[in-house]
Amino acid sequence: MSDVGAGVLGLFGGTFDPLHIAHLRLAIEARETLGLAEVCFIPAGNPALREAPQTAAVHRLAMVERALADAPGFSIDTAEVLNAASRPSYTVETLEHQRRLQGPQRPLVVLLGSDAFARLEAWHRWRELFDLAHFAVATRPGHELTVGAGDTALEREFAARRGDPADLAKAPAGRIVPFAITALEISATAIRKRLAQGLSARYLVPDAVLDYIESHQIYRTPHGH
Ligand code: ATP
Repeated sequence: MSDVGAGVLGLFGGTFDPLHIAHLRLAIEARETLGLAEVCFIPAGNPALREAPQTAAVHRLAMVERALADAPGFSIDTAEVLNAASRPSYTVETLEHQRRLQGPQRPLVVLLGSDAFARLEAWHRWRELFDLAHFAVATRPGHELTVGAGDTALEREFAARRGDPADLAKAPAGRIVPFAITALEISATAIRKRLAQGLSARYLVPDAVLDYIESHQIYRTPHGH
């Protein structure tokens, strides 16, 4: 087979509008805690479920590229961004694309925060996602992960599929693994608000991202530029 890489591959999708340090900590800590070979960032093209990102996909991709420059163990999948103009992007299709690239056996794990996981039932063809990849759910302040009485379809899936990091390498897909990361109450929404008010975002985003924001004059107003 061609060079598909070895070990568990983490897939980290997000709007990244802009990429901030909690995203980077999630990726680093996922790699360490879950024993991932690599984390692939997937900037969202044209997300179907939320309002259009404030910032053009090319800018959001450029910020991810600058933040990750030369960092070993991280890569970027640009497929969603490249298709952004033509149609909405769906995670299930992104995973199908990754599955074709990586082959049927390589363990894939979608990385996401507990806020995003809680909304999973709204995702296009959501039940098929577990046939394509594992899910690893990072703690996020203000969004406690609950396994309640199992009275929603997602809670039933969670209860049935719950595993720990060691399970990820044992199968290509199908487990849901919660994991704790350093609590950082940082959101892209709050960063955009600060910047629109003329306040500093230094140390909330990597310096390379701040330089990009300043030189391209993005986030100067509440609704983009
Ligand atoms: P917004 O405020 O615009 O919704 P965001 O800060 O949540 O943005 P996204 O790009 O939407 O950023 O998030 C990408 C992924 O990163 C999601 O799975 C989200 O749950 C996770 N994430 C973002 N911020 C944090 C955080 N502070 N702690 C843990 N996970 C986070």
